[in-house]
Amino acid sequence: MPHLGRRLAAVTAALAISVTTGPISPASADPRQTDKNPTATGYGGAVTTVDPEASAAAIEVLRKGGNAVDAAVAAAATLGVTEPYSAGIGGGGYFVYYDAKSGKVSTIDGRETAPAGIKPDAFIDPGTGKPYRFTPELVTSGVSVGVPGTPATWERALERWGSISLGDALKPAIKVADRGFVVDETFRSQTADNQARFNAFTSTKDLYLQGGKLPEVGSVFQNHDLADTYRLLARKGMSAFYTGPLAEEIAKTVQNPPKSPDTKLPVPVGSMTTKDLANYEAVDQDPTHVNYRGYDVYGMAPSSSGGTTVGESLNILDVFDLPGLKADQPAVLHHYLEASALAFADRGKYVGDPAFVDVPTEALTDPVFGKERACELDPNHAATKPVKPGNVASYDGTCPAKPAALADEKDTENVSTTNMTVSDKWGNVVEYTLTIEQTGGSGMVVPGRGFLLNNELTDFSTVYSATDPNRIEPGKRPRSSMSPTILLEDGKPFLALGSPGGSTIITTVLQTIVNRIDLGMSTPDAIAAPRASQRNTASVTAEPAFIDKYGACVDVPVWPQADTVG
Ligand code: GLU
Repeated sequence: MPHLGRRLAAVTAALAISVTTGPISPASADPRQTDKNPTATGYGGAVTTVDPEASAAAIEVLRKGGNAVDAAVAAAATLGVTEPYSAGIGGGGYFVYYDAKSGKVSTIDGRETAPAGIKPDAFIDPGTGKPYRFTPELVTSGVSVGVPGTPATWERALERWGSISLGDALKPAIKVADRGFVVDETFRSQTADNQARFNAFTSTKDLYLQGGKLPEVGSVFQNHDLADTYRLLARKGMSAFYTGPLAEEIAKTVQNPPKSPDTKLPVPVGSMTTKDLANYEAVDQDPTHVNYRGYDVYGMAPSSSGGTTVGESLNILDVFDLPGLKADQPAVLHHYLEASALAFADRGKYVGDPAFVDVPTEALTDPVFGKERACELDPNHAATKPVKPGNVASYDGTCPAKPAALADEKDTENVSTTNMTVSDKWGNVVEYTLTIEQTGGSGMVVPGRGFLLNNELTDFSTVYSATDPNRIEPGKRPRSSMSPTILLEDGKPFLALGSPGGSTIITTVLQTIVNRIDLGMSTPDAIAAPRASQRNTASVTAEPAFIDKYGACVDVPVWPQADTVG
């Protein structure tokens, strides 16, 4: 889970809808934006990102008459400069768009894909015949790099809903990359956390450890290579990313990582080719939809498990009168935790890339299925975990006698990623979560190009099983937890939210919705409330403040630390 700085940023990310009625705040006199404000009120549009430069970029676009989609792309490109360890053109993400005119919610799946040449045993070390260790082998490798989806997502979003060119959307980011941004404590500490693996690659060392040193807090960090890459894309379009010299260099970096001569890191190589890059497509996708206590909740359909898992949990909770239990917060939270465990059991059994496996998205988000799953939720006792998945092939809302086999899921997702919300004066809303997976992705900068490649393929199940919907397959998207979500009330935006945090993204989004709707908290309070997360594992993880407030049961690990309190 992100530390406090990130957490506040996530707070702002859920606020955009509630702050569309005040002025767009004026740009700071200092061209380098450093002020962070968790809450803002304005009119004419609103932007929330983790980073003041990215928010300023989006606001500039809105002020010049651009729409929410234009501004979101501008912000995302700027995050590629200022938050390069969480997001950038070397990664992927999910873009959710509410169109005010039609009242329709649409999405783009810009998830990374596995190369065509990947084998089921890609995560087995050919030297030993044993699985690679997750750290360091898998995370810092070519084998975990997926074909990036972010450039195609920006292009597709602008093509479908934008009003400015890609070149114009990239302008603010190019400016920030050239003039530099002010290094903060987060950037320095994330660089420090990655120092060993950044040192392992000449290209990464040259960019992020200049002179062999960590960037100093308060210094100005420029990335001219990335500015040049953006200029190339602005001139030639995203085909210059997926074909031609840049595509060749990306493939070369994956197949033959630019290892420093003195590194001891093993760095398994990947198989990505220029053909894999040329074949990449961002996918237009219908959103998931459930109705929760009168609100229409739209989320991201598979390949992300966000929409189905948040949606199923809400369908389960809808069966219970949680607003009636409002005075008893622990009881409401008990329902929330138990519902998410049930939904995670189904996530593990059924969700993968729908282009490869038959994902029962409709059943998982069907209120009748949710009602049947609610039979397993005891309002007074926590079930023994892991709980069993439901049967999507046959359900009618009545309590089943015999549930199916046990879910068995190992969670290897990492906690990086960034989320943004943008709205405009027309009332359009973008909720966009993007990532390069681990903080620092694969650790590999494409030489001379100024951006890191992802290690998203670590989101596949690391142990291969032919019946696992999230098994590795050529061309497939690994299952994600990213959950950009938009709630409408009577067809109008009520709340838009998303989060970083690996599989806790799902529970963070879910708990925030429960806090807001069932516990009647304001949006800032709903986000600031201490969190706990139950992902169908023996113990619940909880933030220290949650344990302070509600007490610890046996075996409740403190979140984000791994300590156990007894
Ligand atoms: N790779 C993760 C996912 O797609 C996101 C990484 C994170 O948030 O830490 O779900």
